[in-house]
Amino acid sequence: MNSADLKPAPAAARAIARARSVGDGARALGSRVLPPKVKGFRIGHRRGRTAKLHALDGMCECPTCGYFQRVPELEPGQVADCRRCHGQIGRRHTNPPVSTPLAFCVASAVLYLTAILEPLMTLDLYGRDHTVTLLTGPYELWREGWGPVALLVAAATAIVPPIVITQMLVVLLAASRKTLPGWAPGVMRRYERLRPWSMIEVYMLGVFVAYTKLIDLARVEVGPAVYALAALMVTMAATDSTVDVDLIWKKRRVSRFVRRPNGQRVIVSLIDATEMELPPAQRLVSCTSCGLVCASEYDLPQEDVLGRCPRCQASVRRRKPQSLARCVALVLAAVVLYIPANLYPVMTIIKLNRGGGYTIMDGVRGLYETGALPLALLVFFASITVPVLKILGLSSMCWCTWRGSRIRLVDRSRLFRLIDFIGRWSMIDVFMVSILVALVHFGGIGNITADPGVFAFASVVVLTIAAANCFDPRVMWDAAGMNGAALDRSETRPDGQHAVAACLTEPVGA
Ligand SMILES: [Zn+2]
Ligand SMILES: [Zn+2]
Repeated sequence: MNSADLKPAPAAARAIARARSVGDGARALGSRVLPPKVKGFRIGHRRGRTAKLHALDGMCECPTCGYFQRVPELEPGQVADCRRCHGQIGRRHTNPPVSTPLAFCVASAVLYLTAILEPLMTLDLYGRDHTVTLLTGPYELWREGWGPVALLVAAATAIVPPIVITQMLVVLLAASRKTLPGWAPGVMRRYERLRPWSMIEVYMLGVFVAYTKLIDLARVEVGPAVYALAALMVTMAATDSTVDVDLIWKKRRVSRFVRRPNGQRVIVSLIDATEMELPPAQRLVSCTSCGLVCASEYDLPQEDVLGRCPRCQASVRRRKPQSLARCVALVLAAVVLYIPANLYPVMTIIKLNRGGGYTIMDGVRGLYETGALPLALLVFFASITVPVLKILGLSSMCWCTWRGSRIRLVDRSRLFRLIDFIGRWSMIDVFMVSILVALVHFGGIGNITADPGVFAFASVVVLTIAAANCFDPRVMWDAAGMNGAALDRSETRPDGQHAVAACLTEPVGA
């Protein structure tokens, strides 16, 4: 695989250094400061001249560390990793890019209809039985006065899954055309925003934990909806792992001009990244939606909206706005709510007129005492360890960024990816409570109701997910001075060349 490096010409480097000495921050697109000309990358400016933007084909910004690197056309089965933080930045699947995910997506639609229409579980307690569906849990929580928790459970299990399945179906049908129609990028963007909130796989684990707790209390029959949900979990994961988002985006042409927020027209030219000298990082911006990298003629501000992406029309900015402050505020709110989430009971269990409140730790102890050690460990990990790991991890990342620390940047980037991935699994306990309160309604013989702990715990989970969403991991590298000018120095190899091509694995079967 040809992975020749991109390097700025010495003349360009000198000119960039001169441009920096003029003053920081004032050379945003459209500023009046006159920067010098750089060979191979035009930054010359005349008053009233139409602004220009280069869309760089074959270039990518690592979403975790903000390192711009060249990613050559990948072969089937090949994976591209970031050269600096080792996160995955590209992957080409071996399956057909549209037909395979489309088949899984159609299967998901059928399975979802089965899951929502068929009964979930039937509980038989001393001859009295009660059957519930997927919607009974949120309904019972709503009836008991836990409206926000009911909405969260309903959204994650019944509202968001059909929306994301439909969105993916529409995008894949659009991608089967020769070029992607103009409305498809908007659907794709909404899909990517909503997908983390469809939590069928976490709900399945909640069903499993609820079942283990109930078999001690009464006779439980599993309905067809549970099997449909288990299959839906597999087909949705299969859709995500077979769809090639990169190839879909490549079917959308890059517009020849875009407009800035002030209405100014900017001419866009598509350039092969292998055929040009590397512009300084401060002039590059990538679209977080479709990944297209654009090079401006001037240094760009960090957090302002720079305009629309010439390929997908998403708002483009270099970094998420107020990333650190918003993350700290959400983590602090999560810390405050974590105390009642563990001190207050999440549910009250009454059996034969006896019983009381159960906290999250009581639930783990109960599973351990019934002999379900693996499940007890799993719930302990998801409900106790994961929230603590997220709060401590995000706090340490914010602290290190604030201090501008360069310590363990690669490990911190890995930790961020882990936190982002495991965050939703803490919802197991909330889903379990929703299933139990829906099923067990037999007055004094057996009754389960939700308690304030479940509201506090659900809030902690949502706040930590939101905090991880707000935090832009690239600012850790910015604060350490690793993006921009310092990036070139730190990554210079002994031979003076700049290592900016992604690490590629060998293709499958090669
Ligand atoms: Zn990286
Ligand atoms: Zn885009």
